[in-house]
Amino acid sequence: MLNRLDLRGVTGDLRRILPRPEVDGDGPVAAVREIIDAVRAGGDAALRELTQRFDGCDLPTARVDPAALAAALGSIDDDLRNALVVAHDNIRRYHETQRDEPRHFRNNGMTIDGWMAPVERAGLYVPGGRAIYPSTVLMTAVPARVAGVREIVLCVPPAADGSVPPTTLAAAAIAGVDEVYAVGGAQAIAAMAYGTDTIAPVDVIVGPGNVYVALAKREVAGVVGVPSAFAGPSEVVVIADETTDPDLAAIDVVVQAEHGPHGLAWLITTSVAVADAIDAAIGRAVAAAPRRADIEATLRDGGYVVVVESLARAVDVANAVAPEHLQLMCADPVALLPLVRHAGAIFCGPWSPAAMGDYAAGPSHVLPTNSTARFSSVLSLRDFQKEMHAVTFDRPSFDALAPHVIALADAEGLDAHAQSIRLRVAGARDQRATSAPVRPGVRPDIALMEGYHSPQLAVDVRLNTNESPEPPPAEFTALLADEITRVEWHRYPDRAARELRGALAKHYGVATEQVFAANGSNEVLLNMLLAYGGPGRRAAVFEPTYALHSHIARLAGTEVVEGERGHDFALDLDEVRRVIGTYRPEIVFLCSPNNPTAMVDPPEVVQTVLDLVAPYGGMVIVDEAYGQFAPSSAVSMVADDVPLVVTRTFSKTWSMAAARLGYLIGPSWVVDELDKVALPYHLDVVKQIAGTLALRFDAQMQARVASLVEERGRLETALRDLPVEVWPSGANFILFRPTAKDGAAVWNALLDHSVLVRDCSSWPRLDGCLRVTIGSRQEDDRFLAALKEILT
Ligand code: PMP
Repeated sequence: MLNRLDLRGVTGDLRRILPRPEVDGDGPVAAVREIIDAVRAGGDAALRELTQRFDGCDLPTARVDPAALAAALGSIDDDLRNALVVAHDNIRRYHETQRDEPRHFRNNGMTIDGWMAPVERAGLYVPGGRAIYPSTVLMTAVPARVAGVREIVLCVPPAADGSVPPTTLAAAAIAGVDEVYAVGGAQAIAAMAYGTDTIAPVDVIVGPGNVYVALAKREVAGVVGVPSAFAGPSEVVVIADETTDPDLAAIDVVVQAEHGPHGLAWLITTSVAVADAIDAAIGRAVAAAPRRADIEATLRDGGYVVVVESLARAVDVANAVAPEHLQLMCADPVALLPLVRHAGAIFCGPWSPAAMGDYAAGPSHVLPTNSTARFSSVLSLRDFQKEMHAVTFDRPSFDALAPHVIALADAEGLDAHAQSIRLRVAGARDQRATSAPVRPGVRPDIALMEGYHSPQLAVDVRLNTNESPEPPPAEFTALLADEITRVEWHRYPDRAARELRGALAKHYGVATEQVFAANGSNEVLLNMLLAYGGPGRRAAVFEPTYALHSHIARLAGTEVVEGERGHDFALDLDEVRRVIGTYRPEIVFLCSPNNPTAMVDPPEVVQTVLDLVAPYGGMVIVDEAYGQFAPSSAVSMVADDVPLVVTRTFSKTWSMAAARLGYLIGPSWVVDELDKVALPYHLDVVKQIAGTLALRFDAQMQARVASLVEERGRLETALRDLPVEVWPSGANFILFRPTAKDGAAVWNALLDHSVLVRDCSSWPRLDGCLRVTIGSRQEDDRFLAALKEILT
C-alpha cells in the first residue's frame, strides 16, 4: 500500500534524503493576491461576488444571524451536544494552565513588570467544503477566550444553499464566539485583515485552511498577526515495533490521510516483518473506508513505510520530517520522548491515538505542518496575546545607570538620547536629598493576597468567631496556675511536647507518634502545607469552605485548585472526582463540619475521597475544628497505612481559644516529617501544661458540647420562624440568609444592637449569608430578639 523506503545503513543528512511533498508554486499566489486586492477595494460587494463565484450562493450579507447560534445549540442531537461540552471543558481547562503569572523584575530601585495582554479582536477561520469541523471551532475559539480576547469572530465557507452547518454554529455558541460570517477562502482572510462595512478588521487570524487560505494568511501577515506555524494538510508519523498491534497502527496512519490530499502518512519501524504486517493491515483498512479514493490518492503521494535499524534512528527520521502528529506506538514510548526534537504533538502508547487529540484531549488540534514544527508550535494562548512591560526607575537607580546609557548613546551618535539622560542627571543632583528610601519588594504573590479579616469589635454579644461561650472550669484554671509556679522559666520547654502528645494519644486511642501539636490548628495546617505542599504542588479545596485552607496553601507556595460544593453545600462527589482526576492534588482539604456552612462529611464520603487520592500518592486533610459537635468523625479512620490526617483544636470545645493550641491525628510518618518542619521549641511551656491538664476535664467538656448542641437545636427552631433561610448544622454555629433584607444591612443592624455575627454576605456563593455562633442562652436570646426586630 505504502511506498517502501529502506534506510538501514543509509548515512547523511536525512532532511535532504527524505522525499518531501511538492509545495505549490506561484499559480495560487497570484490568484490569492487578486482576491485580496478585490476585497480591499470592493469591500462587502466584492465579498458577495466572490462567495457567489466560489461557493455558488448569493448572500445579501455575510453575517450569520446571532439568534441562529442559540437555535442551533437547541437543535442538535443530545449526544453531540454533550460531546461538544465535554471537549470544550477539557480544552478550556488545559488552556487555563497556559496562563502566565505576571513577571516582576527588580534591580535595586528599578522595577520591570511584565505581563501578557490579549489582543482585542481575533479572527478564526474554520474550513467548510469537504467536511464540517465543529472541533476546529472549539480548538481555536477556546484558547482565544481563555487568553482574554474581547471579540471573537469566525469565518466559515457557506454551503451551496448559503447555510452554515448547525453543528458549527452550536460549537460557536458553546465556545462563546461573538460574530459568525458565512464567508470562506482567501476572501475571508482579506475581509478579516482589512475589514469591510460588515466585518470589522481583527488583530490576529488563526485556524487551518486549504492552500488558498494558507497563502492568503501569509499575504496579510504584518497587517494582522498570523501564527508562524503553517496549518496545512494533515501529517502523521507512526513509530512501531514488534509489540505494536498492526491493525491499530494501520488505522492511525489512515486517519490522517482521511483529511485529503497533500498530507503525509508515514510508518517507521525497525523490522521488515512489522512493516509488512502493518502495510497489509493498511490495505484492509483502506478497502473498507468510505473515503477510499481520497485516502488512496494521499497515500500514493505521501504514504511511506520506512525501515530503520533502531528506534533511536526511527526518531531521527521523525525529527527530519518534523510531522504535525507523531505517534510512539512502541513498547516504551516514554524512553523515546527525550529524543524527539521536532513534532507538532506527540502521542504516547496504544491508548493515545492522535484522534483523541484531534477532538477532546485538551491541547488545540491546530498544529504546525509542512516541517514548520521545527520552529513553531501548537496554537496556544500566546497566539492571542502579546507581552507588555512597564519600566519604573527611582532616582538612585536612574543615577546608577545613567552614565552607561549616556556612554552608549554618545557612541551611537544619538545626541538627543544622551541629552534625555543628561538633563535628568543635572536635575536629580539638586533633588537627591528629597528622594524616598528604597523599599524592599515583597513576594509578588503575597502582594496580591488579602489578609485574614474578622473584626474584633467591643460589643455585648460576640457570636462571630465560634468560640465557647464559657471559660474553662474554675478547677482547671486553679490547677494551671499552680503548675505554672513550678515551671523552670530559664529552660526551654520539652521540644517534642511528649506529655501533651501522650495525653492526646491516650484520649484518642492512638500512638504518641501519631499526634502532632502546634500553635492553633491553623499552624498545624501551615506545617502540613510546608511539608507536603509547596512550589510545584497542588492543594484542592471545595468552596465555599474555610478561607484559611487556600490562604495557608498559597503562603506555602502551593497552587490551589478549587472545586465547588453542590447547591445544598454538601460535597458533590462527581465534582470531587473531576477535580482530583484533573489536577491530582498532593493535598485534598475537607472540612467537617464545614466552616461556614456547618455541613458534615460522613465517613463514607471521606473514604471515597481517600480511595481517589491513594492510588497516585495524594493525602486527605480533614479539618475537624468543630468535630466534637458533629455526629461523625474521621479520627477512627486514621492509621499508618492510610493517607489521612485529621486536625482538631483546643480553641472551640475546650474553651481555650486564648491558648492557641491545635493538633492533628495522622500516620506516624507524617508526624516524623512535621517534626522537621516545626521550629525548635515551637510550643511554649504554658500551652503544653494547659493542653495536658484540659484533657482531664473531658467529662465536663462533653457535657458542655451536649448542652451547646441542644441550644443549637433551640436556635435553629427559632430561626426557622423568621424570614431567613437556615442550613442544618453539625457545628457550634449556624449559617442563615435573611430572605427579605440584604445580609450586609442586617449585619450592620445587629451591630447597632451590640450583637456581632460573621458577615459572609460578600463571600463567593454565600450571597447575603450570615453565620452566628451558638452562645449562651442569654446571648442567643439577645441575638434572636435583635434579629426579629430587624427583620419583622
Ligand atoms: N479550622 C477551621 C475550620 C476553623 O474554623 C478554625 C477557626 N476559625 C480553625 C481551623 C483554626 O483554629 P485554631 O487555629 O484556633 O486552632
